[in-house]
Amino acid sequence: MTAPQPLIAGNWKMNGTSASLDEARAIAAGVGECPARVAICPPAILTHRMSQALAGSRVLVGGQDAHWDDAGAFTGDISAEMLADAGAKLVILGHSERRTGYRETDDIVASKVKAALRARLEPIVCVGETLEERKAGRALDVVTGQVRGSLPAELSGQTFSVAYEPVWAIGTGLTPTTPEIEEVHRAIRGALVEQFGEAGRAVPILYGGSVKPGNAAEILHADEVGGALVGGASLKADDFLGIVRAL
Ligand code: PEP
Repeated sequence: MTAPQPLIAGNWKMNGTSASLDEARAIAAGVGECPARVAICPPAILTHRMSQALAGSRVLVGGQDAHWDDAGAFTGDISAEMLADAGAKLVILGHSERRTGYRETDDIVASKVKAALRARLEPIVCVGETLEERKAGRALDVVTGQVRGSLPAELSGQTFSVAYEPVWAIGTGLTPTTPEIEEVHRAIRGALVEQFGEAGRAVPILYGGSVKPGNAAEILHADEVGGALVGGASLKADDFLGIVRAL
């Protein structure tokens, strides 16, 4: 089976206003012929304008979260259908900032994945261990458990990716060593093949957590790394393009 096409996605989190659309335009202008698919996931309020700003470019727009229901009395929430209607093609689900800050369990994440599929959004499902779990030697168990619990059977035959994001590496400047990343990615691959058969080999496994232009080449060329989910360094076009070009 051929290796999956890599995906490099920027997660802007709660950063950016309409002025930031220029940064997205600069990313689209500089992305060139890189072998990866490239996406930016801005705050939901920018989805529509960013989709318009990037129309005709290679850069896709994604959401950062979506509700598990399609519509209803959920004040302040955004549905997958709304993101798709605003031009999003992908959506990040189960980010550790949602799992921790909003108590999202694997079951909730799996429900959100199903909602994304109903809206024809491509899910990027995040998993990752805390520092305590790593120190206790539980990283592989935690991460493969999250993969099994957060990926519903409905994903069979669909396009999606998994992002391994060690919680302790997000926004901290810390990264696991390359052998540590490879060990977890191989374990995730094993869990994907167990769950989805040979099709599990075609799922890109992204790495996320303090990816920068300076460490991107080593990380992106590691075994079983199929791209990156980038937080802070995706906010500046030069930094994000430095990562994209490292592939
Ligand atoms: C993230 O939040 O998904 C992330 C990887 O953040 P950072 O790159 O800033 O560590």
